[in-house]
Formats: sequence, structure tokens, C-alpha cells
Amino acid sequence: MSQLRRTRIIATLGPATDGDATLRQLLAEGVDVVRLNLSHGHADEHRRRAAAVRATAAESGREVGVLLDLQGPKIRVERFADGAVELEHGQPFTLDCHPDAPMGNAGQVGVSYADLWHDVKPADVLLLDDGLISLEVVQVADRRIRCVVLVGGRLSDRKGLNRLGGGLTVAALSDKDRADIRLAAELEADFLAISFVKTADDVEQARALLAEAGGAAALVAKIERAEAIENLESIIEASDAVMVARGDLGVEIGDAELPGLQKKIIREALAQSRVVITATQMMQSMVESPIPTRAEVLDVANAVIDGTDAVMLSAETATGRHPEKAVAAMRRVCLGAERQFEPAEDLSVGAHRLARTDQAIALAAMFLAAQMQVRALVALTESGATAQWLSRYRSTVPIYALSRNAGARRRMLLYRDVHPVEFDAKAAGPTEAVRLGILHLFNRGDLAVDDRVITTTGDHTGRLGGTNTLKLLRVGPGGIAEGLAELSPKPDRRRGARSRGAAALDAES
Ligand code: PGA
Ligand code: MN
Repeated sequence: MSQLRRTRIIATLGPATDGDATLRQLLAEGVDVVRLNLSHGHADEHRRRAAAVRATAAESGREVGVLLDLQGPKIRVERFADGAVELEHGQPFTLDCHPDAPMGNAGQVGVSYADLWHDVKPADVLLLDDGLISLEVVQVADRRIRCVVLVGGRLSDRKGLNRLGGGLTVAALSDKDRADIRLAAELEADFLAISFVKTADDVEQARALLAEAGGAAALVAKIERAEAIENLESIIEASDAVMVARGDLGVEIGDAELPGLQKKIIREALAQSRVVITATQMMQSMVESPIPTRAEVLDVANAVIDGTDAVMLSAETATGRHPEKAVAAMRRVCLGAERQFEPAEDLSVGAHRLARTDQAIALAAMFLAAQMQVRALVALTESGATAQWLSRYRSTVPIYALSRNAGARRRMLLYRDVHPVEFDAKAAGPTEAVRLGILHLFNRGDLAVDDRVITTTGDHTGRLGGTNTLKLLRVGPGGIAEGLAELSPKPDRRRGARSRGAAALDAES
């Protein structure tokens, strides 16, 4: 039986995905949103990749979202005279914060953040290269941080540096980030991810800069610092979406805390009606290997069961040997996990945060969808807001979000359970618009005769935030919507019509 995929897939573009054939394959395997990682490459490279993936999507009749991910103020060691050194347990090693520090060697290396020496003290543990190497601070004097190597290894140019427990005071937006925010506006990015967010104010600052540059991207706060956990609620409130950025978060907080934090961030994001992405090393072994490890399969599946909207691939696609296989594996594992997923029975937990009419209609729709068997929720939405509210209540009913606004449709590509569909009924009145929307889905093969649907719409189609009406309808002969007077008997959910509709959409996603 074909099955609609509910969880969204983000894939990072890089050298391994360049080439039209590879991009076509990635989209065919199910990528919804591509990520351009601004920690690597030049602006022109990102311009070229954004244009290429959009052209490929247009050719295959698909819509794809573009996410720009700011580098942020990641602290790094500077370069070595020979490109790399071997550090051994117990040896001394010095981090030199002088801006004109000499090239590194086996005894010392410069760092990219001149004030680092203010922020550390003896007995602090510093982690290099995503935690592969660790140093203990012995003494801080004259802008030099003298350390002893706790865990050695090969340390090469420009590797990242974190402090165990967080607490490094560097500002959230660097000069490069400010320039890259202007790039996001220029590229009309759909999403902008902010790295190393510490407070809600960091998000507000990015939002103001983006607005100033004329950008309309949704903002994704990457949760990857110890401080961000302390300010989690206010950061989520200030953002459109959050990312469980497990790479840096695991280094700062310690890996043992990650599973609990992932669940907490997902829970809190959904409670505040925000979108949540789970990221980093989800299929890491597939950088080399054509199949994931069992542990990776379980990790992706658990993120789906935790309730994430989207899962993300980083090096697996950007620089990996099997980018299209990584996407295919993710898609397969998401579908498997979704078959196991059991939505919460009690929707009333969402009710105490009700603040808007469209949100109230969405909650009512999801309550009814849980009580009676319906084939789909159909939302006529201008901005996508109703689709977002609907998709915050985890269920197993697909949500078709009909919008004429291309930007809104692309932003909806990160909402779990939502299938954005291009549809313009502005000229029609609300009753006629619903009828035309259902006919459109019927003609696409998404709905069949006798399917029961819940629709949401506003008195004035085409108006932002205007959703105030919910209807229970039945698809009649020829795809013409009819009123639904009787709720019973319950139709069989497994009949052929469901598979046919699902197959049509599946082939496309
Ligand atoms: P990065 O962010 O890949 O930009 O470092 C994600 C993470 O830290 O997990
Ligand atoms: Mn990171």
C-alpha cells in the first residue's frame, strides 16, 4: 500500500550534490527543503546552487524550499604551518589569542576569537573538532591559554572550539552573518537559520536585519548552546522554527543529555505552535557507506516518534559518497516510523494557549478528525497559518493546504502532515471556493467519491488570518462536495480509494 509521507526532509547541498542529475534524484527521493550551509563556500557558489535546485524543481513540477544557514560566531583554531598536528594525551598545548599569533605547531595555535582568554579559567575543559579532542585549561596569562591535552588526536586547520558547559560570550551575529542575511534576502530564501543563538534578542536582531534587507524568510533558531537551553521558551517564542542542532549542542552539554533535550525542545516547540527540525549525524555513516547503521535507523525513527516536523541531512548529502541513497534511506525510515506513530488522544492540552480564531478552528478540526474517520483535512489558506495550526496537533490525517501564494506554499514544506497545493479561488465566494478546492483534489487523485473531509476557510478567501469556518463534507459523484448529515457508518480506511490518492501524491513527493 502506498503511504503519504508526513515527516519533511531537509538535505544540505554541497560539492557532492552539484550536477543536475544528482539534484533531480534528490528531489525524486523526497527532499522538501535544501540547506545552503554558509560555513562553507562563497556567496557565488550559494547563488549558483540556489538557482540550480530551483530550476531542477521547476522542471520536475515540484516546489522546493531554500534554507540559508548562517555560520554564526563559531570559534575556531587558526591554521597550522603544516596543515595539522598530532596531539597526545598529557602534553602541553597553548591557545594563543593574539590576533597576530604565529602559524600553529605541536605546541601552540592561534584562535579566531581574540577575547577567548577572558572567558576561560583553569580547570575548564575545551573541546576541539566537535569534541574529538579535549584540553584542560591550566593557566591563563598574557592572552595565552595554557592547556594540557586530555584526549589527543589529529588537529587540523580551522577546527571548531567549544567550552564544556558553554559560557563563551561571543556575540550571536558576526559581520559575515550580517552580510549573509543580505544574501538571504537577495536569494529570496524561504528559511534563515541562526547559529549559536543565546537569547530571544539574537533572533529579534536577525529578524530586524532581514526585514531591513527586504527578506521574508521564516527564522529558524538553532539550539546548540548551553545558554539557549536556559532561554528555550523565549527563544522559541521569538522564532518561527527551531533546530535541535545536536552537533554543537552535544559538545557543549555532553552527549548524555542529548536524548532528553531533543524531546524537550520538540515538545516545547509544538506547545508554542512552532516548527521543529532535528539535525546532525542522523545518517552519518552514509557519508561513506551505502546503507545506514541500525543505530541511525533507530535515531531517525525516534525523532519522528518524538514528533519532529523535519529531519535533516548534513555531510551525508553535501560531501557524502551516496547523497541520493541517504535521502532514500531517510524517507524509508520516516515512513516506517510514521506507521508506528500513535497520536495523542487528548487535544485539550493545546487549548490553554488558544489566542486566535484560526487557531481555534484548527483545534476544533483536529478534535473532530480524531473522533470520526476522515480522509483528509483541506485548508484554504492564504498565508499558511491555518495549515501550521492544524499541523501542530499530531494526527494521522493528511492536511491539504490550498494556497495561491508560492512563498506560503514553500514555507509550508516544513510542516509535518501538510501537503501544499497550488490553488487560487480568490474570485469565488467561500462556499464555491471550498467546492472548487475539493474538485481540484479529486481531479488530482487525492480524494475519491465517498471520502469524508473536514475543510477550513474564511468568510473572505484570500485574506490573511481570516479562517473562521469549519465544514464536514463528503465527496460526491464527479468530485462535487456534498453536505455530510450522518457521521456513521465509518468507512473502511484501507479501501482502494485511499491507496489511489496516496499513490498519486507519493509519486510526486
Ligand atoms: P552546524 O549546525 O552543522 O552548522 O554546526 C548543526 C549542529 O551543530 O548540529
Ligand atoms: Mn552547529
